[in-house]
Parts: sequence; structure tokens; C-alpha cells
Amino acid sequence: MDTDYRYLCKDIIINAMVLFSEDHINETNRKGRIEVICGSMFSGKTEELIRRLKRAKFAKQRVEIFKPAIDTRYSKADVVSHDSHTIPSTPIDSSASILLFTSEIDVVGIDEAQFFDQGLIEVCNHLANNGIRVIVAGLDMDFRGKPFGPMPGLCAIADEVSKVHAICVKCGQLAVFSHRTVKASQQILLGETEEYEPLCRACYQEAIAEKLDRNEETKKLP
Ligand SMILES: [Zn+2]
Repeated sequence: MDTDYRYLCKDIIINAMVLFSEDHINETNRKGRIEVICGSMFSGKTEELIRRLKRAKFAKQRVEIFKPAIDTRYSKADVVSHDSHTIPSTPIDSSASILLFTSEIDVVGIDEAQFFDQGLIEVCNHLANNGIRVIVAGLDMDFRGKPFGPMPGLCAIADEVSKVHAICVKCGQLAVFSHRTVKASQQILLGETEEYEPLCRACYQEAIAEKLDRNEETKKLP
């Protein structure tokens, strides 16, 4: 029997996400800072990014949102979460382009930051040092469990890091790994429920061991 914990626990995740950032007083008045929202796939990173950006907009702040041009899974010019919340965004090829769009801006949102070049770290520092609130969301680990793109560097320079969690589809614990369910070895493979599943550490290790066993078996075949 395969219980789909991802959907069962969705309300719990959303409620927890609202709670963890409600203790900040005057969040929209905080200028010149870097906030990183990181986690595995299906952990609600984009939902949390959209929530913070919408609140900044309600507070009449000037907001600009960017995503890598590579990520056109749902919409070319919108940041769209898995549960279809959207917010208009500008797709860009390189992190340096962000600086071209950010004069007269109070808040900069960046989604899928793991796909950007390492220059994003300096760009975020520059923006924050110039009084801009920067909110960055991205995958902290790739499907192999290795730190992904500029994310570790961004976590290091951030004023605040929020690690959000998905729910392990095998056991219902908090998940931190994005397990790739299809055979492909490249680091970037855009996809969602067909290609990836969120797993906790124990279930991820089990899945990797099973995969290795299967490969060994295949090698033994005549
Ligand atoms: Zn598990």
C-alpha cells in the first residue's frame, strides 16, 4: 500500500510555514538583508517565496522577481509553485542581469536559485548592501545529495536561512532529499512528480542501495 503523504500532510506544511515566519515583527520594513529559503523538491520553497513577496507588495513595496531562463516548466514569465500560486517574474540568463532591473526597487525575489551561476552570491550581497531586501529560494541539494550551484554560498552570506521540508513519500517523516526516480545522470533534469520524490535520509539511503543492487543484477545478466 502506498500512502501519498505528500498530499495528506500538505495543510500541516502550509500551516507550519505560516507560523515560522510570523514571529518577525515588521518583516516588510527590514531593508538591506538576504533571506534564503532552501529545501528539497515539494518542500514548499516557492510557496513561501511567493507568500513573502505578496506581503511586500501589499505593503506597497516595489518588488521585482527573477527566475533562471532555463526553468520554463510551468510558465515563461511567472514564478509558479507546485500548487499553482503565481506571481509575475522576469526570466534571465545570468545573475549579472539582475542588476540591470533593480534600480528603484525595495525587494528582490529570486526563485530556483540553484540553476544560477556562482556570480549570484556577489549580486545578492551587492543588492543587500545597497538597502534591498533579497529573498532567494532554491534547492539546497541535487538528486545525489550534493550541495547545488550557488545555494551553499548563498546560505553562508544570508542574514536568515529557512530550511523547509517535504514529507517522505515512503514513511511520512520530514524529507530532505529529492530522489530521482528515472534513470538520468545529468545534474539538471527539470521535472516534478514524474521524475522526483521527496525522501527522508533513511529512505533515501535505502533507495540508493536498491538502485545499486539492481545495477549489479543487470551486470550479471548474460
Ligand atoms: Zn522516509
